[in-house]
Amino acid sequence: MPSITTLRGITEKIEDLSRQRDDLVRFPDEELAGIIRDVGFSCTGCARCCTREFNGHVFLLDDDVEQCMRIDAGALIPAPGFELCDQHGNFYVSGYVLRCREDGDCIFLEGTRCRIYAQRFRICRIYPYMLHREWGDDGRYEWRQIAGLNEHGEYHAHLSAGECRRIAAETISYEKDFLEKEIAFYTFCTAFFKEHNLRPVRKVYDQQMRRFQHGEAVTVYVFDRGALKRHRVTRDAY
Ligand code: SF4
Repeated sequence: MPSITTLRGITEKIEDLSRQRDDLVRFPDEELAGIIRDVGFSCTGCARCCTREFNGHVFLLDDDVEQCMRIDAGALIPAPGFELCDQHGNFYVSGYVLRCREDGDCIFLEGTRCRIYAQRFRICRIYPYMLHREWGDDGRYEWRQIAGLNEHGEYHAHLSAGECRRIAAETISYEKDFLEKEIAFYTFCTAFFKEHNLRPVRKVYDQQMRRFQHGEAVTVYVFDRGALKRHRVTRDAY
């Protein structure tokens, strides 16, 4: 079900994302570094985080997409959960994710090893420190982490203060760039929809989604490095 079915809804989404971004920028690195130090997460190499079962999909930022294209362009697919659908049945989504194999493992996973580890993507580097946004009592967004606590890895390891600060800064930088990509996507779509006399329509979204779920190919425009790229996809890609 799309959350946005009017152009006004897109504007409100941009405003909300901008508020999240502004609250994130105010979030003190030191506070996050302290949480990271207290949790003391240590990877045990179980590779669960590299599976669809555990983690859904691996979303890539623009610089990751460029890197992935150099490694294997076939590893990229439009992100699922298409955000918008116009009256002609075309979906729009804010970026690419990594393809998984049929068993749900990331396409770059071999056994429990990442075969591109030295070149892995930004989300892979900060995992599991990605942040979750929630409304706080004061009407501002609060930021929480860590993903999958107690479901993988080990805890209470000693991490140096410098290492905690580095992780915190990298995590906040990632989240900021993610939000800015989302804002850019919705801003671009607003102009694109107006220019081409398009509008988001829930009924059409639902019809197209049913076709997609039944195995039919659908058109998805992916927002990639400031432009929309057209794809035809079926659910088999996922
Ligand atoms: S690219 Fe490597 S680290 Fe990232 S999800 Fe895939 S296997 Fe895991």
